[in-house]
Amino acid sequence: RLPAGDGRLLQAVCINAVRGNPDSVIAAIDHFCQNQEWAMNVGDEKGAILDSVVMETSPSTVLELGTYCGYSAVRIMRLLPPATRFITLEMNPDYAAVARQVIQHAGLQDKVCLVEGKSADLIPKMADMFGIRTFDFVFFDHWKDCYLPDIRLLEDCGLLDQGSVVLADNVLSSLRFSSRFYRSHLEYTRVLDGLESRTQTGPGSHCGR
Ligand code: SAM
Ligand code: MG
Repeated sequence: RLPAGDGRLLQAVCINAVRGNPDSVIAAIDHFCQNQEWAMNVGDEKGAILDSVVMETSPSTVLELGTYCGYSAVRIMRLLPPATRFITLEMNPDYAAVARQVIQHAGLQDKVCLVEGKSADLIPKMADMFGIRTFDFVFFDHWKDCYLPDIRLLEDCGLLDQGSVVLADNVLSSLRFSSRFYRSHLEYTRVLDGLESRTQTGPGSHCGR
């Protein structure tokens, strides 16, 4: 069972994108969202900023909060080598089902680890489930009331270390961890929006791990 709009997004990918080609999957989704139905992917304009921060950071371990249909997962992982550990969390099983197929169409199923569940439940399990000690890059793009509790949880679990970069979407005013603000527009619109990034300057606390 697929949610209607997201089922149509998936259909657009299957019809218009070349299997195994992440760039064409991204282009098919952008085209669908610009010409048919709006969807809450980070989109092409902020996506280009996301690309540049990912390339600047060159992370070995990546966490994404909020997979939705897999657009940003494809966007991020198309830029990184296969050995990169990439974990993306999605609490809505219908969206996760769409994302799995979008990621598969892009040929990235072996590079992306999609975990279904809530960030608050899963973040504390990253070490036990995946043997991850720290994330080099974290992309926040889930529900906004989870941003502050989840950054605190990441810190409390020792998952951020010196040099870890956190990039948050849909930020118009500072989350109080600002080191850099990127002004942009809400995906597929001219409404003002932005991304905010923070680079961890000191060592993380590893909770005894
Ligand atoms: N990053 C995606 C992209 O650009 O393609 C868009 C993500 S969409 C804006 C937000 C997603 O976060 C939704 O699919 C929602 O179900 C999921 N979500 C919201 N709160 C969450 C949480 N606490 N844990 C896991 N997923 C969450
Ligand atoms: Mg967003």
